[in-house]
Amino acid sequence: MRAVLVVNAGSSSLKYQLVDPDTGESHAKGLVDRIGLPQGSIKHEVGGHKHVRELEVPDHVRAIELLEEAFAEHGPDLAEVDLIAVGHRVVHGGQDFADPVVIDDSVITAVERLVPLAPLHNPGNLQGIAATTRIFPDIPLVAVFDTAFHQSMPEAASTYAVPREWREERRVRRYGFHGTSHAYVARRVAELMERPEADLKTVVLHLGNGASATAVDGGRSVDTSMGLTPLEGLVMGTRPGDLDPGIAGHLIAHGKTQAEIDHALSKESGLLGLTGSADFREVMERRADGDADAALAFDVVVHRLVKYVGAYAAVLGGLDAIVFTAGVGENDDEVRAAVLERLGVFGVELDRAANEGLRGEEARITTDASAVQAWVVPTNEEWEIARQASEVVAGG
Ligand code: AMP
Repeated sequence: MRAVLVVNAGSSSLKYQLVDPDTGESHAKGLVDRIGLPQGSIKHEVGGHKHVRELEVPDHVRAIELLEEAFAEHGPDLAEVDLIAVGHRVVHGGQDFADPVVIDDSVITAVERLVPLAPLHNPGNLQGIAATTRIFPDIPLVAVFDTAFHQSMPEAASTYAVPREWREERRVRRYGFHGTSHAYVARRVAELMERPEADLKTVVLHLGNGASATAVDGGRSVDTSMGLTPLEGLVMGTRPGDLDPGIAGHLIAHGKTQAEIDHALSKESGLLGLTGSADFREVMERRADGDADAALAFDVVVHRLVKYVGAYAAVLGGLDAIVFTAGVGENDDEVRAAVLERLGVFGVELDRAANEGLRGEEARITTDASAVQAWVVPTNEEWEIARQASEVVAGG
């Protein structure tokens, strides 16, 4: 059995999945939670069974040891698996990485240099890498970057109109995130449409707790809504998306500190700021009960989405497909319907029956007559990481 161990290490949690890179089959997955905090745990899922252990997990090395113990105890036995690589999700690859790479000291140094651009993510990714190096010294480790897919953006899309010093010394530019998801979904929809990806102009809407839109032309990202950080663009669970850059100065002039503003923009804005809940499903329940804040939040989310799809259709110079993915995109038929109904100007014609009640399944949700196809395609970042890692190891 050929497999890649896909690892997504955060500062206090580590998600893993053992994936067949050729078929996407998941052999086992799990989560080590509350690393370095009181009351840690590991949850290991295999063959429909969940095995939970609660114990202190002082650091990432212990987390990887626990992962190894869970495989030994509950399977699949890693000694029997042809483990071709460990694929690490790394959030920020900056301008250095347009492709996945086998991790060596120079890669680690480069990812450390990028910590100032992703202070909440890259340090946890690095701890995960260091721990797997110790526990699996003989298996190649591959870094797959969230930003890499967007390195194909033309300069006109990636450049902010700010002073040269900001751009050159502070590396201020649009990088984009969720690249692994956008790449997977754009390729998958081409397969579903039975068209070569090279011929398609697609807008991918990754709508989860974090949310981003990407314009994909012939399989390449040509614009995306997240920027230097994952704050820009669409309305998210706790992040606002697009803002007037003057807002920060206005608030500082009225006594807020930079730290308060940073915290509010990543943890207290978006749906949470508008409704008191960051959970889209809960917001939809409140909206159904007549809550005015929830109704406004839904309208703000939909307005922003319509604006991005329209802008990206123009950027692409045409549009063949709109694809919804991630927690909200895969599950919420109302948000999909509201967006598509407002895109009639592009010849989009919603297939109400196909859309209604559709959850977590691949399906087309526009009519045969629609000039643009819309699809739901559940994302699969683990498979994409496994696939890319196996290609890199094979020298592809
Ligand atoms: P993700 O980050 O991809 O896991 O997505 C998380 C978001 O998806 C949360 O805001 C959830 O409320 C939302 N979500 C999950 N299931 C549903 C559902 N059935 N209807 C609406 N939103 C959902």
